[in-house]
Amino acid sequence: MTARVHTLAQAFRAIFGRKAKKIPLDAGSSCPNRDGALSRGGCLFCNAAGSGTGLHLKGFGLRAQWDKLTPPARRRGEALIAYLQSFSNTYGPSERLAALLDELIALPDIEGICLGTRPDCLDIEKIALLAAAPIGHTRLEMGLQSANDATLQRIGRGHTAADFARATIMAADAGLSVTAHLMAGLPGEGVADFLDTVRFVAALPVAGVKLHNTLVVAGSGLAALYEAGGYQPMAREDYAQAVCRAIALLPRHVAVERQNADPAPGELLAPAWAADKQGIRKDIAARLERDDIRQGCDFHAPR
Ligand code: SF4
Repeated sequence: MTARVHTLAQAFRAIFGRKAKKIPLDAGSSCPNRDGALSRGGCLFCNAAGSGTGLHLKGFGLRAQWDKLTPPARRRGEALIAYLQSFSNTYGPSERLAALLDELIALPDIEGICLGTRPDCLDIEKIALLAAAPIGHTRLEMGLQSANDATLQRIGRGHTAADFARATIMAADAGLSVTAHLMAGLPGEGVADFLDTVRFVAALPVAGVKLHNTLVVAGSGLAALYEAGGYQPMAREDYAQAVCRAIALLPRHVAVERQNADPAPGELLAPAWAADKQGIRKDIAARLERDDIRQGCDFHAPR
């Protein structure tokens, strides 16, 4: 009996032949949507921490972070993957990315790289650099959030859905794996909009998706909107149902790397249910079982 959902752990086992561990590293990257190149406000749902660990600011270089964080995974014999999650790690001139890649491939026993970025921070030169890096597996985590351009404008993303599609196709053509970040419950969107976004991504050459419930976090533009009564978060049951329907729409080979958002400690303002991360995953698993949903059961390959 195959699992109902294809997970990242399964995908990594197929790639590395054993368990793999993503080691979160902070390269001190920036974001054009924060440093003024596009805007200073950032995306509506993001706060200035940009999902980062802040270790770079505390003076830890990549090698120091790696040495500090890898020993447990090493002892377990897991494949080690450098995971640069915060901000947009391919932002800036190609020379910066080349230097970053040089630093990464010099990390002892590294077998993979996973970089968080934005579609407008990738071009053919950067894709070529990433594809040429002598490393077993390179994965790009790219934010889309919504395939609806009106929503992207509303939440201040600073790129379009077509930008995302273009960057994804370019990366996949070069042999890179792409993970798309999607959000349910964005301002002005309902479940149907979220599922349209899932269908959009399912038709692209993505290797994975991360599904998130929209969080209202302290210090974000969304927090101000929420406090002014202009935003109502999704109900827990509606989110669990939306994720199950999304899983049904995704092709079997796409790894569902995340089924719900992971609020940073002390930052979550709403919805309160988002703090129960394990409970939400249990709700989703129970609903998949109850409704006999398997990943891909509603997927129709684009003609
Ligand atoms: S969510 Fe990502 S792209 Fe948007 S402002 Fe934050 S770091 Fe930049």
